[in-house]
Amino acid sequence: MESVIQSVLDLNPEQIEAYFLNIGEPKFRSAQLWKGIYSAGYTDFSQFTVFTKSLREKLTSDFSLRTFTLLDTTTSPVDETVKFLWQMKDGYKIESVIIYEGKRVTFCISSQVGCPLDCKFCATGKMGLLRNLTYAEIVEQVMQMKALSKYPPTNIVYMGMGEPMLNYDAVMQAADILSEPEGMAFSRKKITISTSGIITGINRMADEDQPYSLAISLNAPNQKTREEVMPIARKYPLNELLQAARRYTKKTKKRITFEYVLMDGINTSDADAQALIELTRGIPCRINIIPCNSDDPRYQPPSDTVIQHFDRLVNKNHRTITIRNRKGWEIQAACGQLYAANEKNK
Ligand code: SF4
Repeated sequence: MESVIQSVLDLNPEQIEAYFLNIGEPKFRSAQLWKGIYSAGYTDFSQFTVFTKSLREKLTSDFSLRTFTLLDTTTSPVDETVKFLWQMKDGYKIESVIIYEGKRVTFCISSQVGCPLDCKFCATGKMGLLRNLTYAEIVEQVMQMKALSKYPPTNIVYMGMGEPMLNYDAVMQAADILSEPEGMAFSRKKITISTSGIITGINRMADEDQPYSLAISLNAPNQKTREEVMPIARKYPLNELLQAARRYTKKTKKRITFEYVLMDGINTSDADAQALIELTRGIPCRINIIPCNSDDPRYQPPSDTVIQHFDRLVNKNHRTITIRNRKGWEIQAACGQLYAANEKNK
């Protein structure tokens, strides 16, 4: 039977310290190991030349540094967006994406295998929830991509598979590890938790004064349309969601990003733009308008003319609007699509 070796990424600093003390090594080995893993990004214990050969061998027999197998990777010929499909130890698969935009390098990571929320335009939603990721699996996505990326990340966003607020503890723990000053020291405000509108999670982030940024996927200017494209809106109605957003910005003094996925004929009219402005009035925010990228023919992006017109209408009201390029369009970069393609090919 194959023996299961524990991932060293599962250990927090106290556990690493306890391990070293237990094998008769000094405490400071813990900081050296932590630095090697998260700051230097070592992928193999043989790279820890600060350790003796026998300690390196001991670590190799006790732990693994990487647990994922890279199953598939696709690079867009247009903009070099790269998408990865990983297989984890138990056989489940997840996706992560690197998006290069000028000086901005965004690592988009998953928080769950699949997702229970069934947003109609999303391939991951069709999978249902298979399981939550552990914090080590969330961190490993970043470490794996860091080793493969042309440049280090400038932003990390929880916008891959899954609803991060439904795996809150692991998501925050992973963010804490990634931003730990002794390790990767990633800027806290450059880590964004993107939610489909789980109000309890938004409130918890505000109450705990989490240092990370918050994005909310609105995707509809009214309750009826929102319920149609995002069934979770029945549990967390739009008016209550916006109240939670207001409370969050007041309490944390931070700006929110609202995501608005443009779906042709569904949420793209002038009235929709006006309603979006009204809904978000008075909330310190930025609105990201994203042309839909779905494999479902019912949810397609509008024409460039419609996108630009919608952008202009909302922009008139002095909101900051970012229309993302259709990054990764050619490589099915919307979450869950590479997974689905891989399953189909099997
Ligand atoms: S869009 Fe996000 S929240 Fe909605 S089903 Fe897909 S992964 Fe889940």
